[in-house]
Amino acid sequence: MLALRSIEPAALRRYPKPAADGLRAAAAQLHGLTPEQVVAVNGGDELLRLAVTTFVEPGAPIGVVEPSYSLYPVLAEIHGSPLVQIPLEPDWSLPDDLGARMKRAGVQLLMLVNPHAPSGHLIEVPRLAALARELSCVLLLDEAYVDFVDPERAHDAVSLIAEHDNVLVLRTFSKGYSLAGLRAGYGLGAPLLVEPLLWKTRDSYNMDAVAQRLATVALEQRTQAAETWRKVRSERGRLARELTALGFDPAPSQTNFLLARVPERASGPALLRDLEQRGVLVRYFDADRLRDSLRITVGTPAENDRLLSALRELV
Ligand SMILES: *Cc1c(COP(=O)(O)O)cnc(C)c1O
Repeated sequence: MLALRSIEPAALRRYPKPAADGLRAAAAQLHGLTPEQVVAVNGGDELLRLAVTTFVEPGAPIGVVEPSYSLYPVLAEIHGSPLVQIPLEPDWSLPDDLGARMKRAGVQLLMLVNPHAPSGHLIEVPRLAALARELSCVLLLDEAYVDFVDPERAHDAVSLIAEHDNVLVLRTFSKGYSLAGLRAGYGLGAPLLVEPLLWKTRDSYNMDAVAQRLATVALEQRTQAAETWRKVRSERGRLARELTALGFDPAPSQTNFLLARVPERASGPALLRDLEQRGVLVRYFDADRLRDSLRITVGTPAENDRLLSALRELV
């Protein structure tokens, strides 16, 4: 808030730094990289679009796993690219032959959200390393929710960049920093992978001055956000235990939401509607393997209590 007030309106008369040098330097320092390995973007979604434009010939196939982030198919369609969709295993892990199948299909980009949405499942770094080694195309690791991963898991996909020049890591300020309205994110990769994103396909001034400044401050004040991540993890554990006691079956989650299979005596759409009537909003996906579940965002303790007492009445 203070950072926002400290921006001089007169500063907005001039163009911003074209490549967001300050933010790239801050992100590089945080991740132990150089600024040449960082591209700053107007929200993570822009990086997804840039990756498609930059690394996929028009009409060439793009790989995703199923289910996954709804924007991936949209981007593929805009690009005229067929989508190669491979279903996740029942426990939401990657099929062993994922790399081989993607290679055979000739995909030029594989987009993986990790930790996974909507299940919250985390794929470990050694599995990702094996996949990156197997693929000859770009592997985009969409880490939109990575800030909520338990530190004890010691998850560090950015470490893959040093060894794998085809790995592009996406980070956003929308989830972990509660700055979705700002539109800010960045991509991390080997210098040669990042270079065309930075200097070829990106709009010259893709990130405005306010977003550059506030995102940089958000990184500098990361310990404040980290306190929120800690609370989310603790509430995530409590919510999962309480939901289980009510007969739900929440998948183990490393994100700020739980995908919970509803008890057999209940139905997802009915619960969605009844919760909404009580002022509690959750997500329901009318899609294969998700129809028997609700995706519940971890809220404040009071919000979670309200959800739980509504569910106690309903199931
Ligand atoms: C939120 C999200 C993004 C990026 O969101 P932005 O607001 O554009 O930064 C990317 N991937 C997934 C899976 C997301 O949920």
